[in-house]
Amino acid sequence: MRTHLKRKEVDDVLGGKEAWANVDKIDTACPKCDFRKAYFRQLQIRSADEPMTTFYKCCECAHQWRECNFALGVRYRFYRIQ
Ligand SMILES: [Zn+2]
Repeated sequence: MRTHLKRKEVDDVLGGKEAWANVDKIDTACPKCDFRKAYFRQLQIRSADEPMTTFYKCCECAHQWRECNFALGVRYRFYRIQ
């Protein structure tokens, strides 16, 4: 699922009541509790030049974090949203 959004809209998406409804789960370790399942959403912020950002929400503790995937496979993980 790729969606083009501005940052304000991203905030709305992540903060909205339906933000995490009907999203897929992925096998990844939560940085907070180490649980191995998390919901995930991918958003392209502003332009195609910017990296794809993947937002995660832990299925166990509801902690949220995100990762940016740049070209050449470089990945940055942010442990907190904002
Ligand atoms: Zn967790």
